[in-house]
This record gives sequence, C-alpha cells and structure tokens, in this order.
Amino acid sequence: MSRRARDAPGGKPHLWTAKVSNTRPDRRERFLCRHGLSKDTVRYVHRIPHRFCPIHAATLGVQRGFSAFRGERMTTHNDCSEISRSQLSVEEALELLLAQSRPIADSERVPTRSGLGRVLAESVVSTIDVPGWDNSAMDGYAVRSADLAASGGRLPVSQRIPAGVVGPPLESGTAARIFTGAPVPAGADTVVIQESCTIDGDWVQVPPDIEAGANIRRTGEDIAAGSQVIPAGIRLRAQHLGLAASVGAAELTVCRRLRVAVFSSGDELVMPGTPLGPGQIYNSNRFTLIGLLEELGCEVRDLGIVRDTLDATMEALAEAAERSDLILASGGVSVGEEDHVKPAVERLGSLDLWQIAMRPGKPLAFGHLGAARTPFIGSPGNPVSLFVTFCLFARPFIRRMQGIVGSVRPAAVTAEVGFTWPRPAKRREFQRARLEPDKDSRPRLSLYPNPSSAVLSSVAWANGLAVIPEGRVLKAGDPIEFIPFSELTG
Ligand code: AMP
Ligand code: MG
Repeated sequence: MSRRARDAPGGKPHLWTAKVSNTRPDRRERFLCRHGLSKDTVRYVHRIPHRFCPIHAATLGVQRGFSAFRGERMTTHNDCSEISRSQLSVEEALELLLAQSRPIADSERVPTRSGLGRVLAESVVSTIDVPGWDNSAMDGYAVRSADLAASGGRLPVSQRIPAGVVGPPLESGTAARIFTGAPVPAGADTVVIQESCTIDGDWVQVPPDIEAGANIRRTGEDIAAGSQVIPAGIRLRAQHLGLAASVGAAELTVCRRLRVAVFSSGDELVMPGTPLGPGQIYNSNRFTLIGLLEELGCEVRDLGIVRDTLDATMEALAEAAERSDLILASGGVSVGEEDHVKPAVERLGSLDLWQIAMRPGKPLAFGHLGAARTPFIGSPGNPVSLFVTFCLFARPFIRRMQGIVGSVRPAAVTAEVGFTWPRPAKRREFQRARLEPDKDSRPRLSLYPNPSSAVLSSVAWANGLAVIPEGRVLKAGDPIEFIPFSELTG
C-alpha cells in the first residue's frame, strides 16, 4: 500500500514528485541516495507497479529534467519502479522554460515608420528639447502679467503670431494675438484664452485675476535634450513611433525578427479549400498559431501538415531546425502510438515532456534540436489547448527571445465571478471567460457554457482566461484571477 510522505519542501519550488510504497525511512533514504537526490528535490515517494511506470520509456527525459532544473544529474536509473514524474505547476513550467530562453543578438536599422510591433534594441535618446521653445497652449492673447494692473487689462494688440511663426519681442503695454503651438514672444509671460477676452477693434480687454504664467507650455517640459525617450527592450506601439518621431528619429534600431518554423501534426488534418474526407478535420491550429506569431511580429515559416509517422516528423523537424530561431508544433506530443514528436525530437536532440497541472493543455514538449540547439515547443493538438499553452508558455518564451526586457509574463487582474464552480478542480483551470459589466455596471466574469478544450468557439467568444485555482469551489461574487487577452496576445 502506498502512503504519501511529504519531505521537507524548504519553501523552494520542486520539480519532481515521487512516491514510495514503503514508509520505512531507511528505504526512502536509500532511494534518494541511489538517485543522487536530496530530500528537498523530491516531495513524495511511492511505489509504482513497473508496468504502469510512465518514465520506463523516458528515463533520459527524467535525467535531463533534473539537470535542467537543479544542475544535478541522475547517474543511473535502471530501476524505475519507484519514481514517477510529477506534474509541474504552471509557475514551475514557465520558470523552467524562461530559464532557457535566450534573446537573439542581431539587430537592424528600420525607418521609424516601419517600427510598429518591433522590439527596440537601442534606446531612443533625444537630442532636442520638446517643446523646443515656450509656446502657447491655447488660442488667445499673450501678455506681460505686470502690465495688467496699470492698464486695467485693456491692451492694444500689437502683433499676430500663428503656429510656425516667431514674432518679435512683445512691446510693453501691448498684447499679441497668438494661436495654439505658436512661440510665445520674448517678454510675454502669460497667455489669456480667447474665450475670456473681449475684443474691441484693435484692443483686447482681458479679465482681472489672470494667473501669471498660465497657458504656456515650457521649453523641454515634455522631453529635455539628452534624456532617454524610449528604453531598449520594449515592443514599439503606435505611441512609441509618434514619440520617436517627435524627437526627430527617422530610423530606429530594432531586434531582428524572430524566425519561427511551425507545423501541424495529424493524419486527420486537411487545409481549408479541400473537401473533407471521412474522419478528416480542417487544420485550424495552423491559422491560430501563425496568427498569434504574426501578432508578436515573428517571421513565420509554415511547414504545413506533417503525417503521423516518425520519419515524416523527423524530416519536418530537421527542416524546421534550419534557419529558424524556434520551432513550434501542434499535435502529436502525447505518448500514444500515433504521437511521434517526442521520439523524433529525442533522436535529433533532446526533449522533456512536461505534465503541467493545468486544464486545458496538460502535456507540453520542450526540447532542443540539432547542432544549433534550436529550441522546440510542442503543444497539444486540441485547438483550445494549443491556444492556451501558446499564450501562457510559448508567448513569454518568444517575448524573451525577441529581446523584451522586464517581465514577459502575462499579468492577471482580480475580478468577481458571476457563476458558480461547485466541484473543486484537480488541476488549475484556464477557462475561456468574458469580463463584462453586469446589469448594475459591475465587472463580472462569465464562462463559456462548454468547457471542452476542443471547442474553439469558446476562444473566439471570450475576452480572456479565468484562472480557477485547483481545489476551490466558487460562488457568485468570489474574486479570482482573470488574464485579459490583451495580456496574452500581441
Ligand atoms: P493530438 O494532440 O495530436 O493527440 O490531437 C488532439 C486533438 O486535437 C485531436 O482531436 C486532433 O484531431 C486535434 N487536432 C490536432 N491537430 C489539430 C489541428 N492542427 N487543427 C485542429 N485540430 C487538431
Ligand atoms: Mg494527433
């Protein structure tokens, strides 16, 4: 009979869970010692009947997994009857993955106009002040505030300064008609908005109690010459391009586009445009995956549909590894007879098949191929699993490779549920959800009615993923985490 025995976790994240049937401490100690493990690398120990041992056929994967995470290597593993691969938490899997994501070093110069979505490789530093001179924030009249008391606010208009024109110094005792963006003439210190002035021929009457210095945008108040305007390592949005242009940057230095090779595994797959034969389905993952990659600014090489044979899978992988920074595949990553990704990657490089305590998308394959050790991420074929695993794992990995500096993880917000979750989930659920105002305008989460990971309509319906923690029941009004799609795509 097996009994769970939790060894001292020591507060650190653990990669492995193992179990022993025998509760005798000496036996457990021997087990840990034999595999070169310390107590804090293993949480549970139990006996698994040999024929059920999931790592019997994957001993190497286990060894690599250890070396990847702890910098330790199990020297021998000829008795696999006592250890089972644990499920990784989502955080552990992401941690492992990100530890192996290396930013690409190459950069290139592009016209600022073409910088949208690219990752900035060199920060933009301004050589100019913005604004370059004090200028009017409004249409109105530029005055010297000291003149107002003596004149009672009634001043002759001595000049007219539209935007783009530099007027002469303001004669004392006069006002200048001025327009938004026009340089404030020397001597003037205040602009009075036209709506509060009364015009009388060539004279203007400004109201009392004018605040000295009002309505003037000061030299350098937005950007001072010499200051950094956009830091390296951010993805350029429209506003960044505008900002770069505002300091006169005609070109930007950006990271080279990431080259990603993709393929879809499955004998059942056909492309839209071809009539479906018996048992066939359309290859939707190709479109989801390529779309997600292009939203991230990647250069995608599509290797199409790969048949469910070891040879075809190896051929696709070998081709993908050429001239690619990353390979992504959907389908065929389990350990069934029709799943060839794992053995194929193992023959061409190394691979870990992680079981992640989440739904959808439990298995995730991560490995390296060829001499260049091109990283490989294989997602489950279920269309929702593919979407979710891409967003939660592949996307942060890609963002790090692309040169994004700072956090590459999606940020969750807290939101109240508008539904009940009566049975505690064994694994963390990433349910397709909508965060919308309810009838009282309070933001509430609702779930797509069909939770299946095969229902792609749920992703198109949702505006984010509701994170339902393992082991919890929920009632309406309970707060949970919600990750908006704005944090998961693009
Ligand atoms: P697999 O991960 O290969 O076992 O596939 C799991 C499920 O996803 C099966 O129902 C497949 O038919 C489906 N599937 C696999 N690849 C794709 C794809 N490219 N597009 C749509 N569905 C797929
Ligand atoms: Mg398949």
